[in-house]
Amino acid sequence: KLYNQVQDLKGSIRVYCRVRPFLAGQLSSSTIGCIDDGTITIITPSKYGKEGHRSFNFNKVFGPSATQEEVFSDMQPLIRSVLDGYNVCIFAYGQTGSGKTYTMSGPRNLNEPTRGVNYRALSDLFKLSEQRRGTFYYEISVQMIEIYNEQVRDLLVSDGLNKRLEIRNSAQKGLNVPDANLVPVISTSDVIELMNIGQKNRAVGATALNDRSSRSHSCLTVHVQGRDMTSGAILRGCMHLVDLAGSERVDKSEVTGERLKEAQHINKSLSALGDVISALAQKNSHVPYRNSKLTQLLQDSLGGQAKTLMFVHVSPEMDAIGETISTLKFAERVS
Ligand code: ADP
Ligand code: MG
Repeated sequence: KLYNQVQDLKGSIRVYCRVRPFLAGQLSSSTIGCIDDGTITIITPSKYGKEGHRSFNFNKVFGPSATQEEVFSDMQPLIRSVLDGYNVCIFAYGQTGSGKTYTMSGPRNLNEPTRGVNYRALSDLFKLSEQRRGTFYYEISVQMIEIYNEQVRDLLVSDGLNKRLEIRNSAQKGLNVPDANLVPVISTSDVIELMNIGQKNRAVGATALNDRSSRSHSCLTVHVQGRDMTSGAILRGCMHLVDLAGSERVDKSEVTGERLKEAQHINKSLSALGDVISALAQKNSHVPYRNSKLTQLLQDSLGGQAKTLMFVHVSPEMDAIGETISTLKFAERVS
């Protein structure tokens, strides 16, 4: 019911927020005042203007005790629409450590209840396509790429980080990165295997002091092709599940060289994404897709008939308050 209302009001852009719980051993007071369905209230210390409370409204806010299952079940109708031929984009946004990867992939020591959106989404698509067999015959395949320093790389081949890929927007084929490995999947074990490969390849570019995953965007793209068994007509849908680079501002006086370059690229692409979504939310006639690789890559899945979910993440600790406020402001701007 809520879905239709939201769609009527705002086209197909939704904004969700999730607050991560305190981690074991963390000692701090919380900046989160209260959470009520779509409203989150932040306690702002006097350093950030008048001390008090500030509220933000989104389509949905998940508190620290929300489970992976609850979060997924709210997103399920959106995800399922890819089988009806819709293009879907889901973004996890937030500062490093706020829980983006937890939401999309799950924690490092995964078990069944902590599996994230990526796995649950594919598992659900398999289930639903099985139920529709006889009416529709679906083929599902995935790509997994990374955007680092405005360069696109394949995470599904072992030497992928050494080779730059081109983005080509060819709406008919629906393949925006035609040279990235495209792997057919039929079961959740296929998906687990691919995710492990992607994670392993991604870790190659990282060192102990240099966790590349927080400074690159990773994108799992699910391509769906369905054949109507009566008419023979083909429908195509595509879903991008994006774990964005950390949104935190770096102090330009403190970083130099490679770090500064990374920070500038991240900054540029996240603001380009914000500009695109906010132009779409306001129904502007000009949408500035060309300003970053990320928005170019996702162009045909942002706007038009496509459905977008901006899922922002915040940390509850007092010393994260500055980033928490800027994340919530970003989310407010695109909603
Ligand atoms: P990010 O990807 O935004 O940098 P992570 O997903 O890696 O953040 O989360 C940081 C830490 O917090 C990890 O140890 C993760 O397991 C934990 N965490 C994040 N969200 C939750 C949650 N909802 N419940 C429990 N632990 C969480
Ligand atoms: Mg992460």
